Amino acid sequence: MSEQKELKVEDIKTEAEEKRCPVQKSLYYVSKFLSDIMCGKCFPCALGTYEAKKRLENIISGKSTEADVFIIKRIANDMLEASRCKKGKDTARFVLEWMKSDALKDHLEGICHDRECLALIEYRIVPDKCIMCGECQVVCKPNAIVGEKMKPYFSGYLPFEIRQKRCTKCGDCIKVCPTGAIVVIDTKVKEEVKG
Ligand code: SF4
Ligand code: SF4
Ligand code: SF4
Repeated sequence: MSEQKELKVEDIKTEAEEKRCPVQKSLYYVSKFLSDIMCGKCFPCALGTYEAKKRLENIISGKSTEADVFIIKRIANDMLEASRCKKGKDTARFVLEWMKSDALKDHLEGICHDRECLALIEYRIVPDKCIMCGECQVVCKPNAIVGEKMKPYFSGYLPFEIRQKRCTKCGDCIKVCPTGAIVVIDTKVKEEVKG
């Protein structure tokens, strides 16, 4: 029978660092940490990491309140103080380091500048810039883009538009649009995300 390999916190941290958004880094790290066998010797680590994961999920889904941020920081500070092993203390240190940025405050206002929290963004087509070439439709796997390609001597076309319910926010359409007509906006504030 093969033994489960113990996860090294430094390895999880390296993987988490591949994400850009500090909230996504923290969530990735905590989720991985929880997927390992939990020894449960100290309360803040054993229960706190689970609670922190739930709170981080609230933040990325756009349903967070200041209480989520407060509790995540409190859990991390308690873990730093009360964890018995280096693994628990390191976990708290990493999360606190990521939470230092302004990203949390921005997420509470519905903005993920790194565009990794998909619940907070939407892809939109700017009609004035769209030349109705249909390239975006070709690459959109979930068929989320409606619209009719421009043909000579015909008029009255259905404009190109993204059906939000079908859009998986993969970003493939943006890469092929020749005119930059597709933009990413913040769902809550309805403004184009500045790159
Ligand atoms: S801090 Fe260490 S000893 Fe305490 S529950 Fe976490 S992993 Fe176990
Ligand atoms: S982001 Fe992806 S799923 Fe959404 S419209 Fe563009 S290609 Fe389609
Ligand atoms: S690729 Fe761009 S220009 Fe072409 S139809 Fe789509 S949004 Fe319009």
